[in-house]
Amino acid sequence: MRLKSVAKYAALLCVSFTTALQAQTGPNDSRAREIYKELVEINTTDTPAGNVTKAAEATAARLKAAGFSAADIHVLGPDPRKGNLVLRWRAGASAGRRPILLLAHLDVVEARREDWSFDPFTFLENDGFFYGRGTSDDKAMAAQFVANLLRLKQEGFTPDRDLILALTADEEGGNFNGVDWLVKNHKDLIDADFAINEGGGGNMRKGKYLTNEVQASEKVFQDFHLEVTNPGGHSSLPVKNNAIYHLSAGLARLAAFEFPVQLNEVTRGYFERSASVQDDPKMAADMRAVAKAVPDPAAAARLSAAVPFYNAVMRTTCVATRLQGGHANNALPQMATANVNCRILPGVSPAAVKDKLVEVLADSQIKVSFVGQANPSKPSPLRSDVMSAVESLTKQMFPGVVVVPVMSTGATDGLYLRNAEIPTYGIDGTFGDLDDVRAHGKDERDGVKQFFEGVQFQYRLIKMLAGRP
Ligand SMILES: [Zn+2]
Repeated sequence: MRLKSVAKYAALLCVSFTTALQAQTGPNDSRAREIYKELVEINTTDTPAGNVTKAAEATAARLKAAGFSAADIHVLGPDPRKGNLVLRWRAGASAGRRPILLLAHLDVVEARREDWSFDPFTFLENDGFFYGRGTSDDKAMAAQFVANLLRLKQEGFTPDRDLILALTADEEGGNFNGVDWLVKNHKDLIDADFAINEGGGGNMRKGKYLTNEVQASEKVFQDFHLEVTNPGGHSSLPVKNNAIYHLSAGLARLAAFEFPVQLNEVTRGYFERSASVQDDPKMAADMRAVAKAVPDPAAAARLSAAVPFYNAVMRTTCVATRLQGGHANNALPQMATANVNCRILPGVSPAAVKDKLVEVLADSQIKVSFVGQANPSKPSPLRSDVMSAVESLTKQMFPGVVVVPVMSTGATDGLYLRNAEIPTYGIDGTFGDLDDVRAHGKDERDGVKQFFEGVQFQYRLIKMLAGRP
């Protein structure tokens, strides 16, 4: 899942046009392209035709051929078709710092030939784009990691801290054979000072490079089941005590309710930084006003009304997503149910949200229960080594682009790592068009120029974070 947080709303942002660094060409780039092509052409969907292990094995073979120690390369997992690749590149003798984990997922969302304009598992370059399932989510990142580690190895680079590469299964669903499994069963293999993951990256619109997001936090997903039961009866003899009316009146109260505005380090930084590239001065002022220690309620209300994403960033949200009731046209309903989907701010307990729902629905006949168990995910601190590396690199490669910390309103594999006390940052130098997000969709693609810029960005980032000063 690649979640572009700003999504459609960066129309509101305007910065001077930036000429991004020219795409590099050379042996490393042709290798990056070759690895990318290989990964895209291996079907890694969670279907009978898909096999993540094949992609993991193909990558393991490349790493071994490049001279990485076979003892430090593992393909492992509980499902033979969903192997995870883990490589440890050991630091020189004087390593004083803990490892960095480079994480990307190999599995992709299903893509059917009949839904696409061409075969989703044939890597295609056309009109300045690379096409194929996984080109944006998340095989570009995986290929960039592999190509850069091979290049660094070839150049004689020795990291001053261990570098761990984990290319994983089951991010897009499945049965927890990926990061979750690694954390529970082989934490020693992937434990790190911090991790770099998907979920962040560059945003552009009509060729203009706007922002480079660092994803440092995610909201928590929790469904609630609402249910009203009633003895029912003949519809020719209605009574006031009606299951559908109880539920719908409660839902109407929920519709009018808003959870309180509550910002954290990441979302405060998001509004502060976004204000600096905001075209509309009133909106910029509102962003600064909500970023204060005590957010201005009027500014928060205006931002919430203007942009759904801003609303979702500022507060926990709960929304009715399904509704069912009754069993016959001529019978009083014996049951009415609804699903309410909540996206909870990190640090807020799901139990407290349930209590709040009960209070807002304000009807003892509406029974509220959890659907599944939430996976809490605590925000990663905006540590200065990581942020300053991204800032300086962005400044060098993409002048004028503003680095913005973000909290995703959905979830990625980052949550399993964050729960395992590995701070995780979505960092990606590959820019994508805000109006053309095709991850999980038809004719998925990544810009050719942007892909190679991403290779270059990541190469320099790894050297900055794991190189000798
Ligand atoms: Zn993804």
